[in-house]
Amino acid sequence: MATMNGITMEDRAKRLMEQADVLGSFTETPGQVTRAYLTPEHRLAHDQLAVWMQQAGLETWQDSVGNQWGRKVSLNPTQPTLILGSHSDTVRNAGKYDGNLGVIMAIEALAALSEQEFPFHIDVVAFADEEGTRFNTTLIGSSGVAGCFNPAWLDVKDADGISMAEAMRTFGLDPEQAGRDARRAEETLAYLEAHIEQGPVLEAEDLAVGVVTGIAGAKRFECGVKGMAGHAGTVPVNLRNDALCGTAEMITYIEKFAADKGIVATVGKCEVLPGAVNVIPGETRFTIDIRSLSQDTLEACTTQLLALLNKIADKRGLKFSSQNIYQAAAVPCHESLQQKWASVVETVTQTKPRFLPSGAGHDALAMATMTDVGMLFIRCEKGISHNPREQVTPSDVAVGLHCFIEMLKSFV
Ligand SMILES: [Zn+2]
Repeated sequence: MATMNGITMEDRAKRLMEQADVLGSFTETPGQVTRAYLTPEHRLAHDQLAVWMQQAGLETWQDSVGNQWGRKVSLNPTQPTLILGSHSDTVRNAGKYDGNLGVIMAIEALAALSEQEFPFHIDVVAFADEEGTRFNTTLIGSSGVAGCFNPAWLDVKDADGISMAEAMRTFGLDPEQAGRDARRAEETLAYLEAHIEQGPVLEAEDLAVGVVTGIAGAKRFECGVKGMAGHAGTVPVNLRNDALCGTAEMITYIEKFAADKGIVATVGKCEVLPGAVNVIPGETRFTIDIRSLSQDTLEACTTQLLALLNKIADKRGLKFSSQNIYQAAAVPCHESLQQKWASVVETVTQTKPRFLPSGAGHDALAMATMTDVGMLFIRCEKGISHNPREQVTPSDVAVGLHCFIEMLKSFV
């Protein structure tokens, strides 16, 4: 195992596991991990992170939307600032590693490199909101940094009727200033993030880490199929316009279509009307969630799929309708950053690097609007996340940290 500043990577990983436990203790609900934006627990966690940042030799401050920052100051910065980070907030009844591991790993990497001089400042940021647990508005922290904080969010209220502006004041922030200290592209070198995979791919292939190719784009639709309701006993099967039978054919087709095209598509909700045991279904309503790493593929597949569902409806004398209710554009990780991650992964693990897309959203989504982004995934047990059973191993954390340190060194 590699040693940096006289401390082995294993000992550093052990410290990260302990720090994740400490962060997990700052929770609204005892016995669970729940830490939302602008709460007393947010304050406690960030105060603790600030202490660890200072111990790593970093200069610390809080920004206009409540993100915690630490800077490894360069004595002679001739290049723009490199930003490392992830989020410190959690969903309700969360695990301890989603987001938080990426923050403390970045701090630890800078602690390990405390003796090394860089020709640029290196900033670590703990984004105060990524999950949107309190205000149902995700990526508030990274949007503030990337220059896409929407002032309309200040009026959004939490479940207790407290607006984001009020919550900011209580927390000691000035809502008028929110997002005004955003970073600019020309003063930023890149954004790097380590995150647990939240999927089962690395575990299935027995790999500790993987290089993220990008964050998938998504579209969601509310669909309807209209047929003709009728008596379940008197109308012969070949004379029916059964909306549910048509929908069943569509759902089976959606699964096959996704597999053929190498995308993911899910029907997660389906309602049958009138929904009686002795009535031929006259109508259904269902949802489609369709995702791809390539925006072009997503657009093309969506158009093609909806046309084919229409065809299935026509053939059965049914009426198909669809309404687009959500969309998020796909964000590729920067090609040269992927290659840099790949080469450090190969050096550290002595295995061919695995490239994989992220089906889940991350702070890198917002940061990509301002700078180049690069992400490293760390294996998590059974791909479980957003769940108290979320788990990583100290040896995978050691590998991830080692890769992170080598990645930073590769910029010099
Ligand atoms: Zn996360």
